[in-house]
Amino acid sequence: MIITDVSAFVLRLPVVTDACDGSQDTALIRITTDTGIVGWGEVDSCPSVVKAVVDAPLSHKICNGLANILQGRDPLDIDGCMQAMQEQANYYARVGVGAHAMAGVNIALWDVAGKAAGKPVWSLLGGASGGRFRAYCSVLFGDTPAQTYELARRYVDEGFSAVKFGWGPMGQDEQNDIDLIRQARRGVGEGIDVLIDAGQCWDWETALKRAHQFEEFSPFWLEEPLHPDDIAGYAELTARSPIPIATGEAESDVASFKRLVADGHLHWIQPDPGRCGISTFVAAGRFALERKGRVVNHAFKSGITIAASLHALAGLGLGGGDGIFEYCMSESPLRRGLTKESFDVIDGFVAVPEAPGLGVTINQAVFEEFRVA
Ligand SMILES: [Mg+2]
Repeated sequence: MIITDVSAFVLRLPVVTDACDGSQDTALIRITTDTGIVGWGEVDSCPSVVKAVVDAPLSHKICNGLANILQGRDPLDIDGCMQAMQEQANYYARVGVGAHAMAGVNIALWDVAGKAAGKPVWSLLGGASGGRFRAYCSVLFGDTPAQTYELARRYVDEGFSAVKFGWGPMGQDEQNDIDLIRQARRGVGEGIDVLIDAGQCWDWETALKRAHQFEEFSPFWLEEPLHPDDIAGYAELTARSPIPIATGEAESDVASFKRLVADGHLHWIQPDPGRCGISTFVAAGRFALERKGRVVNHAFKSGITIAASLHALAGLGLGGGDGIFEYCMSESPLRRGLTKESFDVIDGFVAVPEAPGLGVTINQAVFEEFRVA
């Protein structure tokens, strides 16, 4: 089998705001092969730049566009394809959007491999079964503590056993920070997990102070309180925090995840397949699990990213029901309608797909409606 085409597509809602909501647009990767098998991937990055990275013409030996590099290669040699991109796009794509675009290609390659083998991706990754994950409802904080209370009430009524609030006004005012968490807890009631995504808003000393201030509301974790590069700060924080600390959605290579685990001593790492790819997700996850760390997905895009996350986590053997799963609650039609599969939460759990590949089908009408490039 050989790759005959690699294309990137930009999809975008008619109105995009500055809310920290990644479901307002997306970049998709489509890999076509000479057998007729087509694989899909998704990237969580700057979509128009992702497309440029895929489409770029040859500039020189180590500066080529991803489509050029992959043309004619065997898609089942996933490691070989990844190595070729890392070598031939080395000049501009070691980190950042170039690495993100490769992550989307990696997802599409796994989709092709699963379809070719007639097996779900989790099975190719070494998972013994698919299973299901406890879905945590992932939303942004309300603009005020009172709005956050109303949101908490609403989502717990929808059957979730865990709700995460992120970004928004967190970090602007000490008392408001505490009130946001107080009202989140009051809204969900007892017996439901509350997760906090601080959105990189503090230094480690302030984050530690907040962790103690939030402790009475018994949060499940405190996510990304520091800048992604502040590994020394994470080491200080994780050594002292009364609440587990999570981060990792910004990372795209295995070495960076190892740094979070080995040097930052993070309690949870949060790979996003749309930024690191399925291969790196699994490698980073194994590294963390071997060191008694925990692994959870980051996912704020369409059903493609949801499926890629489920397969990666199930491939790590975490689908037995104890694992937790970020379930983006955005109402964006890209989040809700781009795949025909809706990944419904039943009794608080989301099931891992069992169909070959990622197990997703693109809804062409939605694809065409929002495609801008
Ligand atoms: Mg986050």
